[in-house]
Amino acid sequence: MALNRRDFLKFSAGAGLMVTAGARPTQASPHGELSPEAVGILYDATLCIGCMSCMVNCKKANAEPGGALYHRETAGTIPYEYPENGDPIYDAPQRLSAHTLCMIKAYNGEEDGPVGKGSTFSFMKQHCLHCLEPACVSVCPVAALQKQPGTGIVTYNKDRCFGCRYCQIACPFGIPQYEWHKASPSVVKCQLCNHRYAQGRYSACCEACPTGASLFGKVKDLREEAKRRLTLKPGETYNYPVKRVDGNERTEQVVKKYVDHVYGMDEAGGTQYLFLAGVDFDKLGFNPRITNQVYPDFTWDYVSHVPALIATLLITGTVTRIATQKLGKKKNDAEKGDAA
Ligand code: SF4
Ligand code: SF4
Ligand code: SF4
Repeated sequence: MALNRRDFLKFSAGAGLMVTAGARPTQASPHGELSPEAVGILYDATLCIGCMSCMVNCKKANAEPGGALYHRETAGTIPYEYPENGDPIYDAPQRLSAHTLCMIKAYNGEEDGPVGKGSTFSFMKQHCLHCLEPACVSVCPVAALQKQPGTGIVTYNKDRCFGCRYCQIACPFGIPQYEWHKASPSVVKCQLCNHRYAQGRYSACCEACPTGASLFGKVKDLREEAKRRLTLKPGETYNYPVKRVDGNERTEQVVKKYVDHVYGMDEAGGTQYLFLAGVDFDKLGFNPRITNQVYPDFTWDYVSHVPALIATLLITGTVTRIATQKLGKKKNDAEKGDAA
């Protein structure tokens, strides 16, 4: 990002004024309307076998040029191995991180389940929900995060980002991660494999899912599919679509018991990532304090009362970003010098 000292001072002054005035710092979000072309994912925990193919394919797809995890220095390495001190290490992620945009977690409950006490079990998949009214977009002072018209995908442009990490504070789902380990860090999060659509491909996690637990498609179709599943009776069979809701691939499965709720239909104003499960959502890591309230208004109402925090974040973020970019450039120049 080319930000010289004059730009920085101008920006800092602007940010300070904006914050002091209590003004909302960036683009208005496009008020929660679901575009007919909006795409998303339906994750059905009752179909998930915890194979983690989605996680591996996510890393692979995003470690390639155009992907969110692509870095020149790790290009060509196995997606789940990262060189550290020269030695490759096995990466068995436990949570979302700067290397992991998509996470499968397991819940093992203590309450009574179908086969006795402690038998309630479920997987859950975690990544950006591509909110209809994304709080991260609404607070980004430089529009580095944007909700794309049409697809509704919430994308990130690292060339715009100056590292305030305000999006991390604002996201009610704790999704955006930061590359603390890098000389020139960026925010990372799932962008629904936006970079693959031009190649006629779609979300890598859904492409790799063998059971249909992660299903890609237009959100309007995914909503219908989710509602249809809630009308099914446990024990009957259903021809579940696999990979894409509009594709030909299907698998016949015995229907398990669903919690009578599609998570993401209304939560946080609605999301393009929808969930079905056989276990209550608050047991699967969903914060029960997240309501159907639209978050950008809520978030800004809250943070506008702490202008000192925002100003500090904006200014320290900018300084850190400029300093780390200079360090990164020096390192790159030195590497090029060594290679010459
Ligand atoms: S889940 Fe968080 S990071 Fe993703 S769009 Fe919503 S607010 Fe933004
Ligand atoms: S859509 Fe792409 S980036 Fe997002 S979780 Fe799936 S594979 Fe990862
Ligand atoms: S690939 Fe599908 S079945 Fe395997 S862990 Fe991911 S969502 Fe579950």
